[in-house]
Amino acid sequence: MSNIKKVNCPRCNKEVFTVVRSLTGAESARSKYQGICNQCITPEENKEMMSEQAKAIINYGGGSHSPAGRW
Ligand SMILES: [Zn+2]
Repeated sequence: MSNIKKVNCPRCNKEVFTVVRSLTGAESARSKYQGICNQCITPEENKEMMSEQAKAIINYGGGSHSPAGRW
């Protein structure tokens, strides 16, 4: 189940639809570039957002419930 939110791109003012997902940790990276359309986001910004999301997914998926490394 996903939540579609309509926002205006802060750079070109175009209406864009963004999917609001409850993905723990990735929200800060997403909100930083929220609403910026694909035409306006630079490759560097896109890369940063992707890597922040990847980090958040790794932190969320691994760690706490993994017993590996303890013994
Ligand atoms: Zn734009």
